[in-house]
Amino acid sequence: MTNHACFVLENRRMAYGPVEMPVPKDDEVLIRMKFCGVCGSDVHFYEHGEPEFPDVYPFILGHEGAGEVVAVGRNVTTHKVGDRVCLEPGITCGKCEWCRGGRYNLCPDVVFPSAPREPGILRRYVAHPADLAFRLPDGVSCEEGALIEPLAVAMTAARAAGARIGQSAAILGSGCIGLVTLLALRAMGITNITVVDLFDIRLDKARELGAANVVNARSEDPVEAVRALHGGIGPDLVFETAGSTTAASQTIRMAKRGGTIMIVGNVVGQTPIDFQLMTNKELTIRSNFRYANIYPTCIDAVASGRINLRSIISRYYPLEQAPQAFEDCITEKASMVKAVIRFETA
Ligand SMILES: [Zn+2]
Ligand SMILES: [Zn+2]
Repeated sequence: MTNHACFVLENRRMAYGPVEMPVPKDDEVLIRMKFCGVCGSDVHFYEHGEPEFPDVYPFILGHEGAGEVVAVGRNVTTHKVGDRVCLEPGITCGKCEWCRGGRYNLCPDVVFPSAPREPGILRRYVAHPADLAFRLPDGVSCEEGALIEPLAVAMTAARAAGARIGQSAAILGSGCIGLVTLLALRAMGITNITVVDLFDIRLDKARELGAANVVNARSEDPVEAVRALHGGIGPDLVFETAGSTTAASQTIRMAKRGGTIMIVGNVVGQTPIDFQLMTNKELTIRSNFRYANIYPTCIDAVASGRINLRSIISRYYPLEQAPQAFEDCITEKASMVKAVIRFETA
């Protein structure tokens, strides 16, 4: 067996080539990768790099993956060769206050593939801890398995916001995370959802996936439009998934009195927040970083048919063409919700 990967060599330059074959440690499984989603954070690194890690190249991206177990470490009793699994990427210490307390997503010593310096999983073979390789039931394909990772972000956000049947919601941003948030909220019984974005092509997708209303923030004032669509008083829940300071600052005016704002996107920079208005409306602002203890719930939601993850995939690329996938994610941003690498062709 030989192993291959795609490496970032410098900003906007990536190459395909051989890489070391991993040997699974005692508590690991060796996985032949089948699908890997391209995440916004991967594209960001590909385009801009990370200034703190100028010497990290060549670097392998990817953290949304699924595949088939081809070998197991000697202590592994939970998995066998042939199992199909999806990977929860973050490997935490298991010892710190946050790991012990169940909020392991906050572990300061996490090793997260594709975050420098830990190589990602855009490789044909990957060794990973068995307890972070979740078996996929018969009804869930590996391509859906690869997208459990972004769904985990959305499901965590929806839960943390206290989403429940009968509520109304606005989602700012109709990219991958916005759309999986839409799918998560709908699976939780929320139907009165408005999605806001700058591109009609993305809003069409939101409608297709069940948004009750869409608002193009280029052509109307999103705060006025969303409030009007929600009885003039605004929605119970507002999710910022666009990673935009403009959108984030609009959430306060948009939300219903007593409502909850959930910051899901990576909002870079300083955002002006009207704290007086927030207090007058008694709003709750929440955030979440990645996810913890949610993969089984997400897999179950897909297996039961409540969430259709295939619906967010825009295009497939073989591993050798990952460089093209990353370029397309930049140049065709408006129409590319999710690019997925398919390792096995033919
Ligand atoms: Zn991701
Ligand atoms: Zn820890």
